[in-house]
Amino acid sequence: MKSIKVFAPATVANLSCGFDVLGCCLDNVGDEMVISLTSTPGVKITKIEGADLPLETHKNVAGVATEALLDKYNGDTGVEIEIYKKIKAGSGIGSSAASSAGAVWAINNLLGNPFTAQELIQFAMEGEKLASGNAHADNVAPAIMGGFTLVRSYTPLDVIKLNSPEDLFMTVIHPQIEVKTSDSRSVIKHKVTLNKAIEQWGNVGGLVAGLYTEDYDLIGRSLNDVIIEPLRSILIPEFDTIKNAAITNGALGSGISGSGPSVFALSKGIDTATKVAKAIEDIYSKTEISFDIHISKINPDGVRVLN
Ligand code: ADP
Repeated sequence: MKSIKVFAPATVANLSCGFDVLGCCLDNVGDEMVISLTSTPGVKITKIEGADLPLETHKNVAGVATEALLDKYNGDTGVEIEIYKKIKAGSGIGSSAASSAGAVWAINNLLGNPFTAQELIQFAMEGEKLASGNAHADNVAPAIMGGFTLVRSYTPLDVIKLNSPEDLFMTVIHPQIEVKTSDSRSVIKHKVTLNKAIEQWGNVGGLVAGLYTEDYDLIGRSLNDVIIEPLRSILIPEFDTIKNAAITNGALGSGISGSGPSVFALSKGIDTATKVAKAIEDIYSKTEISFDIHISKINPDGVRVLN
């Protein structure tokens, strides 16, 4: 039995202006998975620790993503999956994406890399479809490719790995409240005025340009969402207070991570990211809500082998 243990990273999707298209990969927040190839065909999830998730292959995103890969694989193999969950499901930092991405990346590695990153993203998107009803790629793409990614197009899928400046650090707060994906989707309007669209695509372009030129001020000016955030932020307690505190304490920008309830702040340098974490912690400590705070550099590589 060929076996591999991997780190399956958490991710921050949307990055304010890039709803469903931008995302980035975290370095020290993520699950662990052990993936084995077996001679008995089929997919088996043999163990899940750290979360109450289904072992049935067709109900678990790791199983569904693995089935999608095996459907396209020219060969006979079985797969066994162990999941050691550290990312809380429904946190908004890509819990389901980590399992889908980790599984397909590890299997590809064990098989001698027959599939491209774009193909792996497509398999992992089947897992996202199970989790949220929508095959979005903005979490699985950065989990598989690392760094910052842009989904330029969904049909056909065209994902671009962007430049990732060394000195960027994420602070993420996860308030432990439940925001139903259906609620966070239902508050979004499906029609956008031209003025808002102009502002938004200016910011997406600015953010991509800022990442390539490593212009931290431009990155900060571009982390601005005029379409989704004003509607969704009402579901997150203290959102405006946290965001203001992050920026006052030196963050380049701050916004909702994925569909929430986590909130991210992006900073230049670990010292600023730590100061921002402290300021956010002070605010949340005064509420009744339990929370986790993570500080992480951007993970340039995505899923990685653990020894
Ligand atoms: P996040 O908000 O952190 O991105 P999601 O909302 O994408 O998390 O995914 C959580 C949903 O996916 C839950 O309904 C959970 O039951 C389901 N799910 C199925 N398999 C898994 C898995 N292996 N890991 C995490 N969530 C899973």
